[in-house]
Amino acid sequence: MSRYRLRPTAAQETVLLGHCAQARYVWNLCVEQESHWRPGRGPMPGFSGRCRQLSEARAENPWLAEGSVIVQQQAVRDHDQAMKYFFAGTHRRPSWRKSGRDEGFRIVHVKPGHVRRLNRNTGEVWVPKAGWVRFRWSRPVRQDVKSFRVTMDRAGRWHVAFAVVPEPVEGPGTGAAVGVDRGVAVSAALSTGELLHCPSVAAPQQRRLRRLERKLARAARGSERRRRVRRAVARLKARSADIRKDWCEKTSTDIAGRFDLIRVEDLKIGNMTRSARGSTGQPGRNVRQKAGLNREIMRSGWGLLVRRLTDKAPGRVEKVSPAYTSRRCSACGHIAAGSRESQALFRCVACGYACNADVNAARNIAAGHAVTARGGFRDAGPANREPQPVLLPSA
Ligand SMILES: [Zn+2]
Repeated sequence: MSRYRLRPTAAQETVLLGHCAQARYVWNLCVEQESHWRPGRGPMPGFSGRCRQLSEARAENPWLAEGSVIVQQQAVRDHDQAMKYFFAGTHRRPSWRKSGRDEGFRIVHVKPGHVRRLNRNTGEVWVPKAGWVRFRWSRPVRQDVKSFRVTMDRAGRWHVAFAVVPEPVEGPGTGAAVGVDRGVAVSAALSTGELLHCPSVAAPQQRRLRRLERKLARAARGSERRRRVRRAVARLKARSADIRKDWCEKTSTDIAGRFDLIRVEDLKIGNMTRSARGSTGQPGRNVRQKAGLNREIMRSGWGLLVRRLTDKAPGRVEKVSPAYTSRRCSACGHIAAGSRESQALFRCVACGYACNADVNAARNIAAGHAVTARGGFRDAGPANREPQPVLLPSA
């Protein structure tokens, strides 16, 4: 996802605002319909059922009928996807969208020529009913853009974000399996013993960010200084997010190409911030700082890495329950809190096997020992993936 500043003309802005309003209206209709569901009422209409309802609504409502069916249908699709994320346990239930706060819509099936560069600083993108809308060409746009999202923030600024669905990566075909664990000291540990570092969590950047955030807290509201500091914070965060994304792309391509079966922890919102991995009775040292760091990594880094793995190795990613992965000995299977000697070191109290704590966890994940009661569902794809433009029926 890369975001660019969109510069619609006044006439285009009216059209875009209409798209936003209709997308929000359709989304909220879906939310309302879901809210009426009670146990025993039977299933909710699926995507195709909702699309039929949308056609009926358009026939009765001239305001909707005048708008873009692509925009409206995509709002149904986005809601459908959000419900799937909700049922998969990775996201919260989709909720109401509010005017002025959640303004945006998505366009899919972007044709190759529909994003183009005009000159050094300007590009333009084709939006249904609005035509060619210009945007600031602040960095290159990939040629294989599949979909984009147009948004307006609270300050009335428009942005366009292009999404590129990565191509699947061919596995080695040897049946090699790997466990990937999100680490504390490192970003990810592989069961092969490799420790992968995401460069964006570098300490100097973290320190600078903390300093700026303190400065921001001291700056008077509405002051020029506050505005400046806020921009510096945003820039720093954006830069580290870019680095993190880049790392996720490279790492996921690498892992998807080297292993046929990739096991990761089944990520649930609830246990996302496993407190720096110590047990409750024996917390790790510096838990607070590490927890802060953790949150940062987990929020975007880990989730993105898993998503990219699922994109690039469709059907080859298996999710495993995180229970006991950090306390179980990967050599003998003994489970004891005491085996977790420190943040970094695992030493089994039963057999004496010692190794890096994150690698030990990754080995447990690789072995799939802690498979959930549900049997460790195999991630077949769509439920946990970003909306896949290629899979959508053409509007
Ligand atoms: Zn052991």
